[in-house]
Amino acid sequence: MKAQCLCGAVKLDVQHNNHVHACHCGKCRTRSGGAAFAVTASAPPQIEGEEHIRRYRSSEWAERAFCQHCGSDLFVQVGNDYYVNAGLFADGEDLVLGAQIFIDCKAPYYDLANDTPKLTEQEFLASIGAE
Ligand SMILES: [Zn+2]
Ligand SMILES: [Zn+2]
Repeated sequence: MKAQCLCGAVKLDVQHNNHVHACHCGKCRTRSGGAAFAVTASAPPQIEGEEHIRRYRSSEWAERAFCQHCGSDLFVQVGNDYYVNAGLFADGEDLVLGAQIFIDCKAPYYDLANDTPKLTEQEFLASIGAE
């Protein structure tokens, strides 16, 4: 499915299962002011405009990619796994919020009303084998 940044310099073609997760970790919240909503790509995305992408290594195991022109968050890469910003997809895609992760790191000033499974930092890291 097609995704693109705010200015259009970076376009992604992403295979995914329409499942969105919300990440409440402190890094996502520092970056955007709130939870980050992302789809898990089932294969590395096809990227157009790779030369416009800048990367920031935000932890030992994760890199965050963004557009150098408009600053749009593009994806978090963990090894060969890509968590792509759900906001890059056109409206009307059939995305469903399926989980909330790092729930123990959530800011106290908001709560999502969606009834989803909620994983703590430890539960999530164990689920992707990053511990
Ligand atoms: Zn851009
Ligand atoms: Zn996060």
